[in-house]
Amino acid sequence: MTKICCIGAGYVGGPTMAIIALKCPEIQVAVVDISAPRINAWNSEQLPIYEPGLDNVVKQCRGKNLFFSNDVEKHVCEADIVFVSVNTPTKTQGLGAGKAADLTYWESAARMIADVSKSSKIVVEKSTVPVKTAEAIERILTHNSKGISFQILSNPEFLAEGTAIEDLLKPDRVLIGGRETPEGNKAVKALKDVYAHWVPEDRILCANLWSAELSKLAANAFLAQRISSVNAMSALCEATGADVTEVSHAVGKDTRIGPKFLNASVGFGGSCFQKDILNLVYICECNGLPEVAHYWKQVIIMNDYQKNRFVNRVVSSMFNTVANKKIAILGFAFKKDTGDTRETPAIDVCNGLLGDKAQLSIYDPQVSESQIQKDLSMQKFDWDHPAHLQPSGPTDLKQVSVVRDAYAATKDAHAVCILTEWDEFKSLDYQKIYDNMQKPAFIFDGRNVIDVEKSRKMGFVVYSIGKQLDD
Ligand code: NAD
Repeated sequence: MTKICCIGAGYVGGPTMAIIALKCPEIQVAVVDISAPRINAWNSEQLPIYEPGLDNVVKQCRGKNLFFSNDVEKHVCEADIVFVSVNTPTKTQGLGAGKAADLTYWESAARMIADVSKSSKIVVEKSTVPVKTAEAIERILTHNSKGISFQILSNPEFLAEGTAIEDLLKPDRVLIGGRETPEGNKAVKALKDVYAHWVPEDRILCANLWSAELSKLAANAFLAQRISSVNAMSALCEATGADVTEVSHAVGKDTRIGPKFLNASVGFGGSCFQKDILNLVYICECNGLPEVAHYWKQVIIMNDYQKNRFVNRVVSSMFNTVANKKIAILGFAFKKDTGDTRETPAIDVCNGLLGDKAQLSIYDPQVSESQIQKDLSMQKFDWDHPAHLQPSGPTDLKQVSVVRDAYAATKDAHAVCILTEWDEFKSLDYQKIYDNMQKPAFIFDGRNVIDVEKSRKMGFVVYSIGKQLDD
């Protein structure tokens, strides 16, 4: 029986391995992590992450051929294929701080693999890593192993949070990079055989190691660039009377461009886009390509500008002050259908409004009160460009309350800010909300969720990204 072990039971490791277990009943899959609370949650009814459809898959496989464990070394030692899906955040200090990927977790996983392995293994980079990381990992493994051979593959993950199960079941592509040697080809084939259980052959792409590593950074940079491009257009729409939804529709109809990822918003978030572009910027700088670095940096600068612009619009519309005014924040996760708040634009928007002394009443269907309090109590990282939002100091959490639904959040509020595009926000009773708010009642829609005309007729003063402003 083939044994797979995945180091890192997070947003990627958990769902990815659950789908492998579901589709490959003859393979034993162990997902291991150093975090005991995370593993306990994976073994409980309340999984550590919210992802539509995930509960069902885990229930079907857990205890049969899918196991979650803190016994990292035992499962690594027994495995034929070891995926490494640990976090690779942006470095916060030392060389490359603010840009380079922090590979501390990866290095410690690699050293542990070398230390505990008693048989040869395929080691798979599942985490997003800088191009050429496989070379460093190979050196760590070969210098520390006891005569055991390792084959390194790059198999970056392209799932999106919120649609992870769907993406894993029907991937656009699976990318596998390996060494072009007989052993490397054999390892690529072994991993291909795993995916071939459910992924059509023409969707499994093989590439050299460096192409596979770089493709992941490139894909995230392209996706984020589309968002920053449409957000740049949204500012111009507001200034000219064009409507960004109409512009996106017209632009996306061009088959060379396509309609996806063209929704204007308060800005992109999530643990990957900013981190991976910063990483790309750093790699370009290290390779003597400052112009290329500058090009990609603009994607982040535009994203910060968009968040900043939103906060400024809220404050300036409300007679230039939000001090002591109750503002309802609908949505805190970085996108719908996830409870993940990493790099969510809501943190910057809330910090901006708190800096102007607003009272925030926050509701998100999937984010806990403790998570919101934690996110808002942390100082934002100070990056080196002027557009980046700077909170005025540590947040006074007395200004923040987290409530159980949208109606409680908006009661007696002066304004509503919609920051996540949760489906339930489309079907709220906005008339009821309007009736229970202070007047004039403002809506600032950062996700183009509401019907602008209908809301204006109810009496709301409406600001919706990239749409004509109220007089
Ligand atoms: P995560 O923080 O949710 O999970 C990482 C897990 O690794 C944590 O539970 C941590 O405890 C564990 N870990 C760290 N070091 C360990 C060690 N030495 N031994 C055992 N466990 C260890 O991160 P994530 O969102 O799952 O992302 C993982 C990687 O996948 C990152 O490189 C990320 O860029 C990439 N990625 C993420 C997404 C996404 O949507 N989240 C999508 C594609 C790729």
